[in-house]
Amino acid sequence: MITNTKPIKRIAIYGKGGIGKSTISANLSAALSERGLKVMQIGCDPKADSTMYLAREKVPTVLNVLKEKKNAIQLSDFVKEGFNGVLCVEVGGPTPGVGCAGQGIIAAFQQMKKLNAIETYQPDVVIYDVLGDVVCGGFAVPLRDGYAEDVYIISSGERMSLYAAYNISRAVQNFRSRGYATLKGLIFNSKGGENEVQRVHEALEEIGTNLFHKFPRDPVVQQCEKEKKTVIEGAPNSKLANEYRELARKVMEQ
Ligand code: ADP
Ligand code: MG
Repeated sequence: MITNTKPIKRIAIYGKGGIGKSTISANLSAALSERGLKVMQIGCDPKADSTMYLAREKVPTVLNVLKEKKNAIQLSDFVKEGFNGVLCVEVGGPTPGVGCAGQGIIAAFQQMKKLNAIETYQPDVVIYDVLGDVVCGGFAVPLRDGYAEDVYIISSGERMSLYAAYNISRAVQNFRSRGYATLKGLIFNSKGGENEVQRVHEALEEIGTNLFHKFPRDPVVQQCEKEKKTVIEGAPNSKLANEYRELARKVMEQ
């Protein structure tokens, strides 16, 4: 039997908290699944809400299951199938004030490796949805050790999100010399506001990347969230759904 254990695409989506990483990741996963691809989305934000609209519920986190079950932990405890067969995983976070979120990611990734998560489920595409406010050693793990290959940064025109984008691009550059992940571009998730487009375009040069895709702000996102659905599932004929499909097409061409 010929098995393809290596995913075709390993993607990391980085950006400041609240900028729209999980919305874009989940819709990208859903759009890729429509193309017949097996997708695994791994939420790497202590908020652990990356996959909730794909799974329709909060997925038990690797760190929580590990704490409870210790050595008895199994893949099926934390890999949950969501919309169109998308595999949903949430790393989770430490107890606030006690542990370090970066260390948490490292522990969760070690656990997934130990249990052969990728080899077992054999996804075609793996998407890491990573909080990029601080790119410490833990949050940089998806950039290293062959986890992600293609990196996308999400930002609006807001100063703090562009600042985070700049820091993430520096982190990618640091590891790139060692042959790891490459930055493929900035995904502009519009929040509106004056001079937003201009600010993003000016920042691109400093960040040293290109504009990969632009998403408009659209209330259809909130309408679908009320039904606990992604836009691809809840409003498949909307303009925004087609924008997510366009992103999926471009990402696969990279
Ligand atoms: P992050 O994962 O970066 O913390 P989220 O994806 O959770 O951010 O996005 C925060 C909120 O922003 C979401 O709950 C969603 O309602 C809203 N949002 C994201 N993208 C859009 C968009 N294109 N149009 C309207 N609202 C959006
Ligand atoms: Mg998120």
